[in-house]
Amino acid sequence: PDFLKIKNAFRHFATPEGGSVRALDGINLNVASNEFITLLGPSGCGKTTLLNIIAGFERLDSGSILLGGSSLLELPAHQRPVNTVFQSYALFPHLNIGDNVGYGLDVAGVAKKERNRRVSEALEMVGLSGVEKRRPSQLSGGQQQRVALARAIINRPKMLLLDEPLSALDRNLRSKMQIELKNLQSELGICFLFVTHDQEEALTMSDRIVVLNGGKIEQLGTPDEIYHRPASRFVTEFIGESNIFSGRVLESTPEFSRVDLGGAEVICNNPTLSAGEQVSLLIRPEHFHLKAADEPSSSRGLTAVLEQSVFIGRDHQLHCRMGNGQEVSALIRSSFKALQAGQ
Ligand code: ADP
Ligand code: MG
Repeated sequence: PDFLKIKNAFRHFATPEGGSVRALDGINLNVASNEFITLLGPSGCGKTTLLNIIAGFERLDSGSILLGGSSLLELPAHQRPVNTVFQSYALFPHLNIGDNVGYGLDVAGVAKKERNRRVSEALEMVGLSGVEKRRPSQLSGGQQQRVALARAIINRPKMLLLDEPLSALDRNLRSKMQIELKNLQSELGICFLFVTHDQEEALTMSDRIVVLNGGKIEQLGTPDEIYHRPASRFVTEFIGESNIFSGRVLESTPEFSRVDLGGAEVICNNPTLSAGEQVSLLIRPEHFHLKAADEPSSSRGLTAVLEQSVFIGRDHQLHCRMGNGQEVSALIRSSFKALQAGQ
């Protein structure tokens, strides 16, 4: 059974120029109660708007949102069983960490002893035991974000909304916190609705990803589906690096299709094509196999001249160009050395 059910959600905003922008343009989405689901898309695609509407900070023009079978929209923000974590941490600077984390329990009138027990339990869950007496300004950015997380889970919400919570952290800390956050989610067993504009982060963390563009869902799927079977050109170009070729189907059988890319010929395992059809073909940079030009080869494959080879650690990134001018980007293992521009 679905936990969060969003049906036909619309929201527009007036622009300063007197026009209007559709922040949410007919969103339909069902999410399970223990799912890590990510809203992914470029700036302005409606991610924060959707989160704010679920949190109760913003209203819908039309549509419905159910949580656990009952409507959320009639409830004021503070009565909704969801909490939000922001990129900016939003801690109270004048309160110590214990009072920041325990704030929600103090407001609810929870007894001191129980409150203190739960504060230290929440801090322990985010890997920050014993900092109750410190001030936010005495902690690093990563630690402050952990405090914000502890504060958000302390009253046991059914769902956590996270709006680009790791974007302010440097790369190494961010990778570490991605894993911690994912672990925290499975430990709590609640739904995390996570927002990011970073495709790598989305692929790393999510059970499923919602790719948003202009207030609409472009694709909903597992990281594997989104990466290997992008549903549109937008998703293809937004997720990972891609080489897109235009071609024409020469032959199509139930098992494979032969596609002509203007001189070069490739075999695709997509059986739904028909001969003569014009197609776009995606090849990820890491899916090329490299052959030297003087190696014996079949007629299939692409011929390209290497323009630049960049060492990026485990791999070399090759920038090449085909005879028809098309650029090709390929990743190969760095052990495969002796490559020179012009080859
Ligand atoms: P994201 O979080 O994906 O970057 P937002 O949800 O913040 O996108 O914004 C979606 C669109 O709605 C953008 O075009 C933005 O300018 C507009 N928008 C969001 N909030 C408001 C607002 N309060 N007033 C006017 N326009 C808004
Ligand atoms: Mg946003």
